[in-house]
Amino acid sequence: MLARLGIEKLEDLLYHIPRQYRDRSQIRKINEIESGQEVTVSGIVKARDKIRTRSRRNIYKIAFSDETGVAYATWFDQPYILNNFSIGQEVLISGKISEKVWEQTRRIEFIHPNYELDGEGGLHSGRIVPLYPLTEGLNQNQFRRWVNGVLEEHIGELGEFLPEELLKEMGWPDRQKAIWEVHFPSAMEKREKAFERLVFEELLLFQVKLAIRQEEKSQEMGYCHEASPSHTKKFIKSLEFNLTSSQEKVWREINEDMESPAPMSRLLQGDVGAGKTVIALLALLKTVENGWQGAFMAPTEILAEQHYFKMEPVFQKFGLKTILLTGSLSSREKKENYRAITSGDADIVVGTHALIQEEVNFSELGMVVIDEQHRFGVQQREALLSKGKTPDLLVMTATPIPRSLALTLYGDLEVSVIDELPTGRKPIITRARKSNSRPNVYRFIRDQITLGRQAFIVCPLIQESEKLQLVAAEDMFRYLQEEVFPDLKLMLIHGQVPAVQRARAMKDFKEGKIDIMVSTTVIEVGVDIPNATIMLIEDAHRFGLSQLHQLRGRVGRGAEQSYCILMSDVEDDSARMRLDALVRHSDGFLLAEEDLKLRGAGDFFGTRQHGDTPFRFADLVAHQKLLRLAREKASRYVKLLHESDRRFPGDIMR
Ligand code: ADP
Ligand code: MG
Repeated sequence: MLARLGIEKLEDLLYHIPRQYRDRSQIRKINEIESGQEVTVSGIVKARDKIRTRSRRNIYKIAFSDETGVAYATWFDQPYILNNFSIGQEVLISGKISEKVWEQTRRIEFIHPNYELDGEGGLHSGRIVPLYPLTEGLNQNQFRRWVNGVLEEHIGELGEFLPEELLKEMGWPDRQKAIWEVHFPSAMEKREKAFERLVFEELLLFQVKLAIRQEEKSQEMGYCHEASPSHTKKFIKSLEFNLTSSQEKVWREINEDMESPAPMSRLLQGDVGAGKTVIALLALLKTVENGWQGAFMAPTEILAEQHYFKMEPVFQKFGLKTILLTGSLSSREKKENYRAITSGDADIVVGTHALIQEEVNFSELGMVVIDEQHRFGVQQREALLSKGKTPDLLVMTATPIPRSLALTLYGDLEVSVIDELPTGRKPIITRARKSNSRPNVYRFIRDQITLGRQAFIVCPLIQESEKLQLVAAEDMFRYLQEEVFPDLKLMLIHGQVPAVQRARAMKDFKEGKIDIMVSTTVIEVGVDIPNATIMLIEDAHRFGLSQLHQLRGRVGRGAEQSYCILMSDVEDDSARMRLDALVRHSDGFLLAEEDLKLRGAGDFFGTRQHGDTPFRFADLVAHQKLLRLAREKASRYVKLLHESDRRFPGDIMR
């Protein structure tokens, strides 16, 4: 049960901090408390009894008294509760008072109160009491006892590592005190200070780690790409468009990194449709031209396939061999591909997580590109990197991470931003609609298709089980195909459709053989169909803001005016606010800031996909100030350590 909470060692127990507290610090006299109040009283058990009501329920009751009066504690249907009490014993009772008038006497009664018997040292009452996030089968009193036990026996083993001046300056307690106060606060103000300190130390350690990693990287010897780029020049010339000045700037930055001996670690940010893929292609071409291999990893099979089909012909023109590596290849195909990768026959490998399988061994990996970085964990990134000696790394993301967050989470990466869209793009017109305007919406879609355009209709993943999701999407599809657009060509695509079939469907859609692509969110990222001008999102309120923005980015990629329709009947404020933000803003960075405000950082990073942000205590939205302080201090400490040739204590760096 503890493991379910992420607790494996005694120490972990200390870092599992309360979610809330209940103030039971004031012990009150029975004659001065009134009904409705939430209080703690201390008394001696005088009597205990089981009573059967007229409605045949069993009531268990004790009477207890202090020097000012008598009060009662009552429990329903808990046959064993009375065994805990014996006459003459001291108890602490905490809870809300209900007062009753009984035969003209006032009677103080606690219903289902919290109680504590003597001998527990006032752990659960008579103080500010912690309430922990627990899992089924654990209870608060028990957990509190464990934490208390660990604190009492082991707190002395926790070392301090923040400088004393800093603690003084900030008014923070030392480490042992802080942990203690967070669990069993002596006062809420003290708890705040203690917690602040813990947040800070966590942010500091994270920043120090990043700074050290960066430092180490800069001393590693990486691939030194040569400058004479005939392939990349030729490729740029062959494009039917000019690179935007933003793309040019970014490509210059990447070039410099690649040509320098230090391994590149660069994050390429750019809104959906900004043209990141071209840049990735250039980087891969350059590495291959230097005689090494390139790897491109995408989060889904559909994306990997799409990138493969886009890149393969380009590389082909240069006489280069590109291969696709995904989980759904047959084992024979896989084996063949592994061989090509090992022998160096394959110049560029495009794939999914399949790239980090053990069997994949590159002959000489010079460049790693990771698309939609936020969908991968750091370990996956490292796993792919470790397939080479010290390959250059380019990670790309369309999630417009606000700068402050990017620096925190990817502080070991240099950041390049493509901050303009290719010219000639018209801003997407976005509208929120209710289902009563469905006929109009469908008419509008039909008109667009008559004009030769194509549409996406996205059904959200509403159900818990994938099977049910499928049924919902299939229902919607049948309705659209049979009732609404019987004369048009529709296609349903979702995660369960085999990869080959999906790839074919995508190809058909791209070639205009399909008018409307109905899908679940599998098309979320990266799909590139310039002729698609309509994105209809069903139950739009079910998506997060950044996800909606990503989906919307599937259209507006060609020269024609594009539209995004957000279908939702929900009136709930936060949902309306999200949809409204989308209608008003088309800029991803602006939306990201709004998203952050509306949801908090945890959600922003899609916690459901990849565990939490790396933090136990810190909340990147709430703790911006501490974050700035931590960054500042981290770079100073690392510099100091470096100068004095000391290392940061290893046990803290875990
Ligand atoms: P993303 O940044 O979302 O990955 P892509 O690289 O898929 O964007 O590019 C979106 C579309 O824009 C593609 O069809 C691509 O060919 C096109 N494109 C990229 N750069 C330019 C440019 N400078 N001018 C015009 N079109 C471009
Ligand atoms: Mg992309």
